[in-house]
Amino acid sequence: MNTDALQSQLESYFKWFHRHPELSNDEHETTARIREILTGAGVEILNIPLKTGLVARIRGARGSSAPAESKAESHSSPPDGPVVALRSDIDALPVTEISCLDYASEQSGVMHACGHDFHITALLGTALLLQAEKENLGGTIKLIFQPAEEGGGGAQQVLDTGVLDDTAEIYGLHTAAENKAGVIAVSPGPSHAAVGAFRILLRGVGGHAAYPHLCKDPIVAGAQIINAAQTIISRNTSPFDQAVLSFTHTEAGSNWNVIPPEALLEGTTRAFSVEKLTGLNEQLKHIAVHTGEVNGIAVEYEWHMNTISTNNDPALTAFVSETAKAMGYRVQPRLPGMGGEDFALYQQRIPGVFWTIGVGSPQALHHPGFIADTAALSAASRLMAALGKEALRRLGAIIL
Ligand SMILES: [Zn+2]
Ligand SMILES: [Zn+2]
Repeated sequence: MNTDALQSQLESYFKWFHRHPELSNDEHETTARIREILTGAGVEILNIPLKTGLVARIRGARGSSAPAESKAESHSSPPDGPVVALRSDIDALPVTEISCLDYASEQSGVMHACGHDFHITALLGTALLLQAEKENLGGTIKLIFQPAEEGGGGAQQVLDTGVLDDTAEIYGLHTAAENKAGVIAVSPGPSHAAVGAFRILLRGVGGHAAYPHLCKDPIVAGAQIINAAQTIISRNTSPFDQAVLSFTHTEAGSNWNVIPPEALLEGTTRAFSVEKLTGLNEQLKHIAVHTGEVNGIAVEYEWHMNTISTNNDPALTAFVSETAKAMGYRVQPRLPGMGGEDFALYQQRIPGVFWTIGVGSPQALHHPGFIADTAALSAASRLMAALGKEALRRLGAIIL
């Protein structure tokens, strides 16, 4: 398929996915459409227990540098040759789109504001490219269309099926709103932060707003907690450590003259190590519980880690960068960000690289005005296909 034909095919796929966004763990139509396109192209879909999302497989000739029949049997070689996984996520966000695109979201209050529609489409293009030259593949490619990346536990669901137990390397992509269409950005080490989510429930005593001395006011205590918590980063974290603490949801009371009995505070902590993230939450819990105590308020503190930080393998990062440069892409380093990405869970088990491709959006990811420039679709597909093919060639060479 020539570049123009692939690009126009992908643009039409992309518009469909953009029109039909679905939230985490609810990606039924999306999965059906992916299945339809892959099946139409003759790509095998693995029968694994995923409610939404799917994993497809493209098996090439076994080994990379010799015809299959001339190779000696080796017990250390897996039956399908080396396996490389390529991953896209497929879920959308509870965001109301404000664009005037003719293919804007048709699902009220739901939008592909993180560019996962771009990722799906790019990986479908990769599937078409690799399927067309499967005889030249020196092993097996697994294409992961992962559900529920936006905090819904999707990577863990895929890992729990065991479908990646035989995988040697994994590659994932994300759109970069801030970069021009087609620019590749990648760096070794952590690129996305470990993410904590906390919930603080304050239980006081409600009553008449005219008689606050007869109440235990959870709103005042909550405000003190929010203010005191600002010192966790500003006074207790080294300026050389990257960390974030944000309150994102407060809820208390329902009218102007009643002091409510309870207040709720929620938010997120971010850091690049589990130790630092745990430390941030211990400090916040300490502040919350003791501030509550001073005010006569009982405090329940809960937190959980949504994901660990990503960690790009240095040698494989160089491989991505060199492969992209050899294909004529502009490649630049990617500064780490405090966003989270559950691709990290794959990297905990399998060496891999999470790289980004520019889509020149006027607004950032998760913004209702995010628009991905579709010009980079076939470029993303081609790079991902090359990474899969070249990684198999390299791995095959090692096995043989
Ligand atoms: Zn996102
Ligand atoms: Zn995303």
